[in-house]
Amino acid sequence: MIYKVLLAVVFVHLVHYVYSSQIEAMFAIDLVLVLLYVLCRADVTSGKRSFAKLSKDHNKLHLIYESERRDTEILHILDEISASFMDDRNLNTIFEHTLDGMQQVLKADISILELLADKDSAVAHTKLVRGCKTFELGENIYAKVLGRNSSILINNLSRRHGEYEKYRFLLEQGVESFLVAPLKIEKKPIGLLGIFATSRHDFTGEELRLLTAFANHGSLIIENARLLETTRRLSVTDELTGLHNFRYFRERFMDEFERARRYGHNLSLLMCDIDYFKNYNDSSGHEAGNEVLKKLAGIMAGSVRDVDLVARYGGEEFVILLAETGKDNAMVFAERLRAKIEEEVFLYQEKQPSHNLTITIGAASFPQDAETSEELITRADQALYSGKEAGRNRVVSYSSQ
Ligand code: GH3
Ligand code: MG
Ligand code: MG
Repeated sequence: MIYKVLLAVVFVHLVHYVYSSQIEAMFAIDLVLVLLYVLCRADVTSGKRSFAKLSKDHNKLHLIYESERRDTEILHILDEISASFMDDRNLNTIFEHTLDGMQQVLKADISILELLADKDSAVAHTKLVRGCKTFELGENIYAKVLGRNSSILINNLSRRHGEYEKYRFLLEQGVESFLVAPLKIEKKPIGLLGIFATSRHDFTGEELRLLTAFANHGSLIIENARLLETTRRLSVTDELTGLHNFRYFRERFMDEFERARRYGHNLSLLMCDIDYFKNYNDSSGHEAGNEVLKKLAGIMAGSVRDVDLVARYGGEEFVILLAETGKDNAMVFAERLRAKIEEEVFLYQEKQPSHNLTITIGAASFPQDAETSEELITRADQALYSGKEAGRNRVVSYSSQ
């Protein structure tokens, strides 16, 4: 704009000089042409500069747009993952969704999620791989991500040597570039999340940020799941013995009874009670009594099959539910258990009336002893009572009492 004003002023001056014969008309025209040329050049250069700036701004805008688009996409996926967790609370489903979402947003060839075992919340070691059948990370990755709690971004493994030699293990599995981030709970690594490219060479810091977002969100879900699992487990576990408690027994018993009735299966229930346990507590102390309860729980839990159920019914009584087991087999099992406990040496057992720590077992079976679940419990209890009456340290079946 300023150039155009200048040109107008010079032009007016030149017309004035030509009229007043101060300069020749031809010279004035030449001057105007030179001026026009200079002005055009200036315009083109400034136009070029503006275009370059525009194109740079456009690129910048595109990057911002791309990053926001991915942020929106990732938020959407994370929302979906959270929602599916609320629905079925299955950690494995969450892990699968997380890997699928990551592959989708970060366009990786292989992705992996590994979670370390956690004894406190009974979470087992989990490893999920997408994109290939078997994939090993190698100890250097574990040492850096889990040991030092840091992320790794490495591109172009095949073109790098020296310090990247330690990741040769991945190169041998076809990996060119990769990103790995730790899963953490309260800053403590609990596992890792990684994406691997077999041909692409250019993972960016932005992509590491997205992977970290997945890792942080995944960690939160895992923490919630662990808390839920711990709470659930505590609510169905007997604190002293670690066996299932009465609440759990009742639920499982109802289910098992219903199944036995529907499919016409046998089901046997054993009610076990320690003989003269009051005497044991009185003569050896409550703590010693607790140790006996724990030891008995271990023996019982170690004697049954996976499909059976052992629970602390209350006080010094235990129940054993033998799935798909008829009376005869239940009696054989019960007798073997009674004998095992009779032979086991318990601390201070010599102070017991029989100088030994023993149990009495009452047995009842479906269908011959009971029609309903309540009846089955009552029958087993009645058989137990008969065993006590008959002198203890024995197995009594309801139908034979
Ligand atoms: P019986 O042979 O007739 O079964 O006699 P018993 O002495 O075992 O039966 P009783 O019902 O008189 O006493 C049960 C005892 O079990 C009383 C109680 O002190 C003890 N007991 C119940 N729960 C616990 C527990 O959690 N820890 C300990 N140490 N003792 C318990
Ligand atoms: Mg009792
Ligand atoms: Mg007793």
